[in-house]
Amino acid sequence: MDNMQAPSVGGVRLPKGSGETIRLPRGASLTDFAEKIDANPASLVQVLFHLGEMVTATQSVSDDILELLGGEMNYNVQVVSPEEEDRELLETFDITYGEDSGEEEDLQVRPPVVTIMGHVDHGKTRLLDTIRKTKVRESEAGGITQHIGAYQIETELDGNPRLITFIDTPGHEAFTAMRARGANSTDIAVIVVAADDGVMPQTVEAINHAQAAKAPIVVAINKIDKEGANPDKIRQQLTEYGLVAEEYGGDTMFVEISARQNINIDGLLEAILLTADAALDLRANPDMEAQGVAIEAHLDRGRGPVATVLVQRGTLRVGDSVVAGDAYGRVRRMVDEHNVDVTEALPSRPVQVIGFTSVPGAGDTFLVVDEDRVARQIAERRSARTRNALNASRRKRVSLEDLDSALKETNSLNLIIKGDNSGTVEALEASLLQLDVGDEVELNVVHRGVGGVTESDIDLATASDAIVLGFNVRAQGKATERATREGVDVRYYTVIYQAIDEIEQALKGMLKPEYEEVELGRAEVREVFKSSKIGTIAGCLVMSGEIRRNARARLLRDGTVVAENLPISSLRRFKDDVVEVREGYECGLTLGSYGDIKVDDVIETYEQREKPRA
Ligand code: GDP
Repeated sequence: MDNMQAPSVGGVRLPKGSGETIRLPRGASLTDFAEKIDANPASLVQVLFHLGEMVTATQSVSDDILELLGGEMNYNVQVVSPEEEDRELLETFDITYGEDSGEEEDLQVRPPVVTIMGHVDHGKTRLLDTIRKTKVRESEAGGITQHIGAYQIETELDGNPRLITFIDTPGHEAFTAMRARGANSTDIAVIVVAADDGVMPQTVEAINHAQAAKAPIVVAINKIDKEGANPDKIRQQLTEYGLVAEEYGGDTMFVEISARQNINIDGLLEAILLTADAALDLRANPDMEAQGVAIEAHLDRGRGPVATVLVQRGTLRVGDSVVAGDAYGRVRRMVDEHNVDVTEALPSRPVQVIGFTSVPGAGDTFLVVDEDRVARQIAERRSARTRNALNASRRKRVSLEDLDSALKETNSLNLIIKGDNSGTVEALEASLLQLDVGDEVELNVVHRGVGGVTESDIDLATASDAIVLGFNVRAQGKATERATREGVDVRYYTVIYQAIDEIEQALKGMLKPEYEEVELGRAEVREVFKSSKIGTIAGCLVMSGEIRRNARARLLRDGTVVAENLPISSLRRFKDDVVEVREGYECGLTLGSYGDIKVDDVIETYEQREKPRA
């Protein structure tokens, strides 16, 4: 090819870069790309077509395609993750999120933030209540205690007053859901185990979730007032999960309590503080504009949007301009967990903030900015981005198919294993860990458990970029929906060696996607109507197979694909809405809002089916 000329593929002239770097958000479309290089989106569509990829201008495309296209035109494409993008957005306002400003000596000790986790009915809620009731700070006892999502208590260690913040939503689900959104709110996990019941599936799940977050654990052996309580059995059982009591030579603190009878709650609080002091360096700079995370938010009828934020660094004050996710506002009022007005909140302090113009999401990061205008601009740009990302695509995380590139970055593959009984789960885990995949690659089982694939498994997978393996189980509740939204790869197996085989192949970079397109039917356009209400209606004759409502379709003109991935959004025979129309029959249909339909075009409908594995 002549160097002086613009490059061309399949006769399409392309704008030619000179190796400069183009940054595109993950899930960008060809239109986004074209905008950056000042080109015509249609020409990019054509180029890709000649490279063997059929996409429309506004459809979101994968990182690989963006890079391929960039390479073709001599641009260096960098795909930017949502987190990076947000960092860059804040940078344009000279803001850094997530770091304490200033020097070492500006940092001051902050209280630990604790989440209580454990099996259902082991006493998490009761424990939170007991701590709240017995440890209310005297001066504030006047206020009526309210649930705002977190509370802070005052206690003593070695004669010094100390504070601890408790997240008031027990369980690891909320904790991991927040982590999946990039917010780490918890420093220490208290795992509650009922002494009369012992270690149960959710105890193990909670331990795995806490460990995946690298949060130190304190074990509270609860219900020691009950007959049949056997704390030593629990110490014994938990050694299997890497939690070895200090008495046994380990470094995990175990505390025997009764949440109901208020026994040894002080001992638990002491253990939390000792663990924090030993394992963590909890300090923050109180002397900066506040930053943190929104942990709960709702629309209050009288007060408007109300959000509980946990300050993580800096000091939050009434009058500050704030932004949390894509919500912004000015702090008009702050109240604490006793419904008492506060004027400022230091690091690790949860407060309810009134003054947002809309409701932030739980897990959104929040920060104070100089002016209302900046807060509004950040919020608006974030919501525009969220809208784009939603329209465009789901977030793409690790899947076995793209493992090759993922491994190059991290060299580890995180797995979550769910199965129908603990024997198979253990067997599968053991075999996987024995796979000989070379030293460079590390296989990590971040969680394993018995039962279906749950939403909280998906959250954990999102937070730790893991792949979920379901063995003889299926998804529960909205897990599939959430996995699709978050782009988590969930794989189901019924034969152990097949699972092992697939992981092994993936690790060796040999796995190919196993989807195939199945044609459902074809129809020829005989007439085209324009309706101001419905849009463009194609009067068709079904030539083969059947046309189904909601199926995916592509439009062919003279044997060439004009548009791809269109929905059959309405389908009629005469005046009646129908679900399907068979070969030899006439029908009227619309392709979403797509309007460029001509007589003699062919509409082909298809679906992607997973190929059964051999
Ligand atoms: P959660 O599902 O873990 O939040 O458990 P709850 O806090 O709802 O407690 C479950 C049941 O155990 C309730 O009936 C509590 O009253 C009871 N319970 C909680 N702690 C104790 C305890 O220390 N001793 C006894 N005997 N019962 C308790």
